[in-house]
Amino acid sequence: MTPVAAPLKGVGVSPGVAVGPVALMGGGVPEPPAAGPVGAGAAAAVEAGDAAAALEAARAALAAVAAELEARGRAAGGDARDVLEAQAMMVRDPDLDERVAGLTVLAGAGEYMAARVADLDDLRARTVARLLGVPVPGVPDPGHPFVLVARDLAPADTATLDPANVLGFITEEGGPTSHTAILAKSLGVPAVAGCAGATDLADGAPVIVDGGTGVVRVDPTEAEVDAARRRVQARRAARGGRSGPGATADGQPVGLLANIGGPADVKAALAAGAEGVGLFRTEFLFLDRADPPSVEEQREAYEAVFAAFQRGGAGKVGKVVVRTLDAGADKPLAFLNLRDEPNPALGQRGLRAVRRAPEVLADQLEAIGRAAAATRADVWVMAPMVAGAAEAAWFCAQARRQPVGRAGVMIEIPAAALQARAVLAEADFASIGTNDLSQYTFAADRLVSELASFQDPWQPALLGLVARVGEAGHDTGKPVGVCGEAAGDPLLALVLVGLGVTSLSMAPGSLADVRLLLARHGMDHCRRLAGLALGAADAETGRARAREAATGVDELGL
Ligand code: PEP
Ligand code: MG
Repeated sequence: MTPVAAPLKGVGVSPGVAVGPVALMGGGVPEPPAAGPVGAGAAAAVEAGDAAAALEAARAALAAVAAELEARGRAAGGDARDVLEAQAMMVRDPDLDERVAGLTVLAGAGEYMAARVADLDDLRARTVARLLGVPVPGVPDPGHPFVLVARDLAPADTATLDPANVLGFITEEGGPTSHTAILAKSLGVPAVAGCAGATDLADGAPVIVDGGTGVVRVDPTEAEVDAARRRVQARRAARGGRSGPGATADGQPVGLLANIGGPADVKAALAAGAEGVGLFRTEFLFLDRADPPSVEEQREAYEAVFAAFQRGGAGKVGKVVVRTLDAGADKPLAFLNLRDEPNPALGQRGLRAVRRAPEVLADQLEAIGRAAAATRADVWVMAPMVAGAAEAAWFCAQARRQPVGRAGVMIEIPAAALQARAVLAEADFASIGTNDLSQYTFAADRLVSELASFQDPWQPALLGLVARVGEAGHDTGKPVGVCGEAAGDPLLALVLVGLGVTSLSMAPGSLADVRLLLARHGMDHCRRLAGLALGAADAETGRARAREAATGVDELGL
């Protein structure tokens, strides 16, 4: 009898079940020897000691990579085009050699630069592959649907991915906030990240990916494949049959909203049946500019989004929660005059950063106010990275000068969660940003992949802080939302509702599963699940207990 391969275990970062053969991401590219680049063209030059020729070969390879990225951008269009063109510009940057050599320095240089490291790694690999004359790494094309397996995924890897052929993702690295997780959720396919041993899988090996439990079954039996296919089918059928506003089985409304990063994301949010927007990130207007955008430019962008979500009926209908600029020393905006900081995540960021440049905030609020006045959307505004009641009072006083429905705050700092009652005495609502709240609760940088397990929002300590904010919301009669990645985990969404959360905002691709599971659980059931997760010793135990006590999770492959 052939031995049964042991299942692999990672973190489920996008729910659902996939069955299919593995396709490995275009192979790793070896490091060139320290002496210099080798390979077609360059090898001969180095052997001959001709440094100038070697440099020329390297430049030719870089130019070819840039041209290829630009061509792929033109073919992809939309956001992918912007991403790929930005990467091509990086390749054409004359300082590239130095920047690649300094990757490890970059990794420690703050959130914005650290996020670019995966991009630079990818550019290095493409360039070296050309120099070595080996296949350029990239998405495989086996000619049939596949489960993509990679060490990690960068935007350039996936921009031209054909979603019709991708059944799911497995990555060795990354966690709940990785590019893999974000992409998988936007495509609505299952993904397991942080999965040790994944890249040792054989190309073509059959697997079952369970994005709920994080388990990858290798070489499954026929019976296991049949069972998995039934779960895929059950989820598809159940998702198709349900739309409309979110509510628990006993009719308690739970707002199901979308996270968007600009007007370009509106279409997907509406198509997924979002009731509105729970987090409108506005950084897209401010990044990579020497001066802040004018009030008029901002008004136009905000109005486009508000108009898309306004609804008929009396008064203001169709909620859009706008977050004011969340910049910091790690996203260097010249006009904020921020100094270099040794630890930018703990520095002048979020509300702190704009308090140093109050005219930037005043202009933004004015633009939001004008756009709100011009549409029938119910516009709420909130500040990021609020530390306590005094900051909440300061921000809300500014925001209330504008014709907005409500002025509120994000809860992303443990101090604000612990003081939620005092914060909510000043603010009209709170929205919990679980991505940053995890980072600050566990003192674990959200972009360091070795620390990804700290980003697991099932951690009882994090849920304890959510519970505290939920209670404060209940006692003060004010809405409490969650807009971090946690809100898009259907099982955890039940727990959050049980902890007192009244709305959930997530990537549009997650809305259907959350709506579905919510409709199968009453409030008492949600509270029971919350108790189990909160009382567990660790994230894994809490998740397992909640799974066992919930209804239909396994059957639907969630
Ligand atoms: C969060 O921190 O959870 C959040 C929603 O904000 P961002 O991810 O933009 O920091
Ligand atoms: Mg945040």
